[in-house]
Amino acid sequence: MLELKNVSKYYYSKGIITTGLTKINLEMKMGEFIAITGESGSGKSTLLNVISGLDSYEDGEMYINGKETSHYTEKDFEEYRRKYIANIFQNFNLINSYTVYQNVELVLLLNGYKKRQIKKKVLDIIEQVGLTKFKNTKVSKLSGGQKQRVAIARAMVKDTPIIVADEPTGNLDSESAKDVIEILRKVAKDKLVIVVTHNLEQIEEYATRIIKMHDGRIVENQEIKKVDNNIKVEESKYFKITLINKYRLGIRNTFNIFSKFVLLFLVFFFIVSAIFLEYGSFKLYENLSSKTSLYSMMFDDISENRIIIKKSDKTYFTEEDYKKIKNLSNTDYIVENDLFIDRIFSFEADTDDYSYMMYMSGNINSIDNFEGALDIGRMPENDNEIVVIASKKHSLIENKLDEFLNTEFTIGEVNISNIKVVGVKYSENDNDYNFKIYVSNNMIETLRGYINSTMCDLKIIFEENQINTDMYIRLLPNKEVEKGKVIIDSAIASMISNKSVKNKSLSINVSNIYYESTIDLKIDNTYTKSNFKKLTGLSKYDENRYVIFMNEEDYNSLYYKPSYQSSVYIKNVEEIETTMQELKNLGLIPKKASDYAIDNYGMSKQILRITTVIVTIIVIFVLFFISYFIIRIILASRKTYYTTLRILGATYKNVRRILDIELFINSSIAFAVSLILIYLVRANIIELEYIKNITDFIGIKEYVLMYLVLVVMSRLISRRFSKKIFKKTAMNTYKEEV
Ligand code: ADP
Ligand code: MG
Repeated sequence: MLELKNVSKYYYSKGIITTGLTKINLEMKMGEFIAITGESGSGKSTLLNVISGLDSYEDGEMYINGKETSHYTEKDFEEYRRKYIANIFQNFNLINSYTVYQNVELVLLLNGYKKRQIKKKVLDIIEQVGLTKFKNTKVSKLSGGQKQRVAIARAMVKDTPIIVADEPTGNLDSESAKDVIEILRKVAKDKLVIVVTHNLEQIEEYATRIIKMHDGRIVENQEIKKVDNNIKVEESKYFKITLINKYRLGIRNTFNIFSKFVLLFLVFFFIVSAIFLEYGSFKLYENLSSKTSLYSMMFDDISENRIIIKKSDKTYFTEEDYKKIKNLSNTDYIVENDLFIDRIFSFEADTDDYSYMMYMSGNINSIDNFEGALDIGRMPENDNEIVVIASKKHSLIENKLDEFLNTEFTIGEVNISNIKVVGVKYSENDNDYNFKIYVSNNMIETLRGYINSTMCDLKIIFEENQINTDMYIRLLPNKEVEKGKVIIDSAIASMISNKSVKNKSLSINVSNIYYESTIDLKIDNTYTKSNFKKLTGLSKYDENRYVIFMNEEDYNSLYYKPSYQSSVYIKNVEEIETTMQELKNLGLIPKKASDYAIDNYGMSKQILRITTVIVTIIVIFVLFFISYFIIRIILASRKTYYTTLRILGATYKNVRRILDIELFINSSIAFAVSLILIYLVRANIIELEYIKNITDFIGIKEYVLMYLVLVVMSRLISRRFSKKIFKKTAMNTYKEEV
């Protein structure tokens, strides 16, 4: 059955070579009961380990059933052990947290047997070793002799042709030792049993051969009884471990050591809480800052329900387009000229009292959009009349209402004057000192042209030279100027030529991101302080320097363009992503106004979101390593367990899956407990204000994601840990433990 020819084994450690075995020649047959003796350190265990395939040999050859093994890999030996070898150790090597039954059952579970097949077999064998009374007792509560009987039962249930026992009675009193040997003898029938012992007397009467070792050599090999040569070798039968068995072991391991369960649970709970708090805090911060202190460089109105849209082909919006947008279920209303939303206009009025000017400023809206009822006055009746929404506490409303309603305002920027406020509605927010100003559609048109002009680049070409316009040259419409002509500031004239510019051509080009427009005009005249009023009909020369006045129609041809950019206000902010997608489907480019927000500290919302993701990933990484090390420490006490599994024939994959399942169950429980706690907090049963606030910002998606992260983390941890166990040979790991 087994034959060793000139087998030698050396140990290399720290640069020193020691001899474990020297030129061992030995033949062992089925039916033999071999006793190996020798003083401590003589190489007995080494020999058994080589025979068991638990340790390698360097020289010579070992034959199993006549087959060479010197080329065997770790995997080949694994298979060999599963088929041929059952080990019994001096220190039992049982799983202390399992019951007698579970210990014996373990091999069969690993070998893919079904529960049905297992039960009878296991109970039978427990009966044979006389432990039926203790079948449900945890092994840790048994005496040494009983433990060794469990170990024998485990070896028996594996049903291999070879049983290898290394000083099985070494830790037992003589009475128990006798029992154990007696049982071994019974088992030995038709098998090959190899027993190492100090105490030859115990075993002498059964042994068929006695081998004595000294200094790694066999010094005596004495056959006592001849054995029947024709006993057939029956390999142990095993199958691939079933999924059910893996789960059975995984679940058993989750709960069988309570302290370990609690510690692992706490680690996973800690991971969940840390990710949850970190992520939630960021979300909370994002939300708080958007409520209190956000502003944007580009847009005044960065409310969550505003989406800024333009067409992806850069053309202007048609009525058709607006109709389609209005038809979207989440559309509240559209602001076609959305430039107005982000523009504050100032209205001023001189007063009788020269010491101060009346002044109001705010967003302009079309009178058509005015909703609700006025608190003071009436609705406008002509283009010069406006109504406002304003704070009750604004000084103009609170103290100077009469004067306010009887004064004519001017919008200085655009030379619109004679504006009268005829109605006031109080705003809901007393502290908002901006007005909302509702004007006629004609005034809207004028203002819109003006806003357009401020959004455009202006190029002026005179006699094929482009004039440096910088910022201060403005175009304005003027009723006194004839079509096709301009009246320009004499300061501009002297800038562009040192001769007379009258009747010369001037080409004006305006452009922005959406369109470009050019017009050729004749210079009709130049103005100075003395002729300003006569030429333009305006009075304030000082406020109208560096202006090119042109006929309204010409002006309009440059600036009165349809809308290229609009804003959609939506009803339900929570559905904004869907609405964005629907807008995209209509061929539009939508942008959330809130994405342009910048908070107090200058961090834009997008940067805050990216930061959240990055910090969360870092936190997850750090948590992974922290928890890996903690879990490694917790599981270190379990290394014996996994080594035992290996010695019993579990593969790397088996061990990993069983550990996977254990960590998966434990992390799932931790996650479930977190969910329950969150529920209790949200239901106000546990009062934790901060946690409650955080949970407002965590949705189903985040919970699912968090669970996935946890599951992936637990798998990575089990993978790393299994790899570590399997880095060394089974025997080396085992020796480290003992
Ligand atoms: P026995 O079981 O007969 O007491 P062992 O087989 O355990 O003896 O050891 C035989 C020799 O090999 C001893 O000299 C021992 O020191 C040495 N040895 C055993 N295991 C190792 C090891 N892992 N590394 C180095 N030397 C070892
Ligand atoms: Mg030994």
